[in-house]
Amino acid sequence: MRSVSKRDRRRAGILIAGAALVLAIAILHPWYVRYMTRYNSEVCEKARFVLEDRYNHRVEEQMKQGVSLNDIDYEDALRQAVRQEFGADLTAVRSGEYEVKGICRAGGTYTIYMDPSTHRIKTHCSYPGHGDYQMFTTPFGTKQA
Ligand SMILES: [Zn+2]
Repeated sequence: MRSVSKRDRRRAGILIAGAALVLAIAILHPWYVRYMTRYNSEVCEKARFVLEDRYNHRVEEQMKQGVSLNDIDYEDALRQAVRQEFGADLTAVRSGEYEVKGICRAGGTYTIYMDPSTHRIKTHCSYPGHGDYQMFTTPFGTKQA
């Protein structure tokens, strides 16, 4: 009788521990999902900052070497920046519009818009809530409001 009650106590202990674990997961899971959502969004924005920064640097390098603004291969500068920084490929969608996949951790696709006259780029992430990103200061001047 003694050993049975001991076993029952152990079982009850396991059940309580299991219930506590389930409760802890139920409480922490929404917090974890919120945390990851915010984290992915921040990492995505940082990636787009880096992407635009590297593109701008490549253009700036050519300007420093004396290449005239009309002779700079902007598409190539963007392609090299994406490849070197992220190991990703740039797909031309149409004139002044490009697509990059596999950088956003949440699974969004980037659409990069290049202004036809200033060649300044703006990056849009297709993942809900990630939105547009554009650097304020570029070698081409400061963004107009
Ligand atoms: Zn994203």
